[in-house]
Amino acid sequence: MVSLTFYGGVKEIGGNKILLQDGDTKIFLDFGMNFNEHSKYFTEYMPPRKSSCITDLMSLGLLPNIKGIYRRDYCKHMGISDQEENGIDGVLISHAHMDHIGYIHFLRKDIPIYVSPETKAIMDMFTETGAGGYTEFSDVKPSFELIPLKSGEGFKRRTSRDGTEKRDIRVFEFNKPFKVGDLDVTAYRVDHSLPGATAFVINTSKGGLVYTGDLRFHGRHKQWSHDFVKNATKAEPTFMITEGTRITQKEARTEEYVQEESGKVIKGKKGLVIANFPIRDSERLLTFYNTAVENNRKLIIEVRQAIMLDLLSKYGVNNLPKSDDKNILIFYPKKSWGLVGREDFTNEQIEQDYSSWEKGFLNCKNIITAPEIAKNQDKYIMFMNYFQLNNLLDIKPKNAIHIRSICEPFNESMELDQERINNWLKLFGMYPEHKIHSSGHASGPAIFDMIETIKPKVLFPIHTEMPGKFRHLSMKVKMIKEGKTYKI
Ligand SMILES: [Zn+2]
Ligand SMILES: [Zn+2]
Repeated sequence: MVSLTFYGGVKEIGGNKILLQDGDTKIFLDFGMNFNEHSKYFTEYMPPRKSSCITDLMSLGLLPNIKGIYRRDYCKHMGISDQEENGIDGVLISHAHMDHIGYIHFLRKDIPIYVSPETKAIMDMFTETGAGGYTEFSDVKPSFELIPLKSGEGFKRRTSRDGTEKRDIRVFEFNKPFKVGDLDVTAYRVDHSLPGATAFVINTSKGGLVYTGDLRFHGRHKQWSHDFVKNATKAEPTFMITEGTRITQKEARTEEYVQEESGKVIKGKKGLVIANFPIRDSERLLTFYNTAVENNRKLIIEVRQAIMLDLLSKYGVNNLPKSDDKNILIFYPKKSWGLVGREDFTNEQIEQDYSSWEKGFLNCKNIITAPEIAKNQDKYIMFMNYFQLNNLLDIKPKNAIHIRSICEPFNESMELDQERINNWLKLFGMYPEHKIHSSGHASGPAIFDMIETIKPKVLFPIHTEMPGKFRHLSMKVKMIKEGKTYKI
């Protein structure tokens, strides 16, 4: 018997957690966090309580209540009755957006997590930059453990300084079948707003299953998505799980459009250009890099992005600039004592302003500080998101423009953030901003085309608020209920 159970992504954008069961094999397709549901109860400043995070998230319906999948250190501490054996054969990750990987932190470390090389690079970036919250994607820091003191008497609480442990992360090759439990899986590259996005074709005992993950057909690498469709069609799948984020929208502005439009806006401008785009969208970073070069400017990026570019290069991505590219500068904002750029303090003193992961580029030639940017404002395009706006007080932009290359706010807290952004922009004469964006998700017509080409017998629309929009299609379309098991 084959079955599918959807624990997220149902009538909502993201939070995909889909359990596929075929005989003895159990596989999760993604294990993401659902932003909307999560933010109903929590904020950045009021996150789930660590001491009972799994039970709290289960009580709120955010994590499924399944035995044998959660971290054993947490289960023991939280009094969750658990089993010795690992409850599933693996998790297939479509890409490293939080709505697809966000709850991996809670999974036990011996569950194999299957990822593309680029997804591994981004997971490593989270490990390296010590991003707060529940982000132990590559490495696990055992918690709630007492370890004997060196003196031999008494115990102390284990911390990350006492060592971390590796998760069982397995990096797959695209287009090459691999086994998870008893099932053959093939991963195909697709184009999305994050490197390493993957769609899967799985051979089950009841025929092929296609899972699209998130994808688009209007990015720089649209051919990847088209090639996936060809391969998925050849597999003559019985069933298909498709995303439908923008199912009601026809417009599909391309990445080239972003480059052309921002080029037009920047041309001949005498001031600083600030671009706000998703921090890990390396395609958008490349777009603004190209725009900068075409306009005799340099692109200023964040330390996190520099780390990401170098990790992606380490994992074989060669179409992106590296952190030491001659047209890239790495911004060091003032932190802690704010000593960066000061000549009356030693390098050792300056270094102490930064956490260990931030120090990496401090002695590189291509770093830049706010006063240096302020002096030559027409020489740069600067990446700046919400969290960096306070640096404007040091840069004091004149004749500057602000390009907004992110999606529109879609909930209350994002609208509040936008109000705050607008206040900063008004203060420095950059309001209103230029809106130039291309979505990471395919338009409605492109999704319907894909489905009609692949022609599964049964369709499960997820990652959409409007699954009803798929009803008119020629195959059997399931209107999914969260937590219900669908036998195939
Ligand atoms: Zn998503
Ligand atoms: Zn995504």
